[in-house]
Amino acid sequence: MSSSDEARRGAGAVGGDAGTADRPEGERESIDGAVIEVSNVTFGYGGSPVLEDVSLTVEAGEFLGLVGPNGSGKSTLLRLVLGLHRPDSGEIRLFGEPARAFDDGERVGYVAQDVTGGTREMPITVREVVTMGRYPRVRFGRVGSRDRRIVTEAMETVGVDHLADRRLAHLSGGQRQRVFIARALAGEADLLALDEPAVGVDAESREAFYDLLHELNGRGITVVLIDHDIGVVTEHASRVACLNRRLFFHGDPDGFAESDALARAYGANQRLLDHDHS
Ligand code: ADP
Repeated sequence: MSSSDEARRGAGAVGGDAGTADRPEGERESIDGAVIEVSNVTFGYGGSPVLEDVSLTVEAGEFLGLVGPNGSGKSTLLRLVLGLHRPDSGEIRLFGEPARAFDDGERVGYVAQDVTGGTREMPITVREVVTMGRYPRVRFGRVGSRDRRIVTEAMETVGVDHLADRRLAHLSGGQRQRVFIARALAGEADLLALDEPAVGVDAESREAFYDLLHELNGRGITVVLIDHDIGVVTEHASRVACLNRRLFFHGDPDGFAESDALARAYGANQRLLDHDHS
């Protein structure tokens, strides 16, 4: 995949062209059916596949926890879903459209592993970052009073309104995570995709962060969360997918706890994976 693809998708997630239609205030666009459909997907970065024959559907309103050992393909799967990679075989649809062609970027809030990225040193304030998330929905290319209100509400929802004029560089890791969630809320995202969002965040903030995700999910936002903390995932997610190149489990958290999928996925060595394609 080229870096221009990353840039294109990244721009879609935080900004993009002004002037797209918006929806009545306080109303969440109703979504029928699947938000994400992954069908028989195999993908490798040139060498052997890092994902093999993975099929997975995420329905609107679900909270999916994606678990698996390091290097098991979780981030890769999420990036495929966001259209950042093209599957070698199989198909991926996002809100019913082929993921690679999906151009409604503001519907998806993506919080990648290193949210500090290039923004850390930028002299940009919290309010400015969150306002960027609003750009795709701004009418007539101008941020109006309604947009400013939505930005303020997004900051209030995640509890960073008191930091509005603070520079991003001066925030803690946990506060920064919230700012990026607020940015997605300002764009009225329907799907939040989070890749290990709690790395580097202290335990107390982490717990509050998961509570926030829970609350946002309760408002109808579909959540996909990659997290190495299995306890957190089974506590907060409504569905669990356990991956190690292949999908070892997809179902509800209780079923996951009762299954041997975890041991199989984490205990699976290369030989087992190569010889067990059941
Ligand atoms: P996880 O998120 O479960 O830790 P990843 O999806 O990041 O796993 O990685 C899956 C496998 O793909 C690993 O073996 C990793 O080294 C490899 N990989 C990840 N990104 C790239 C890349 N950009 N180029 C080549 N290999 C990669």
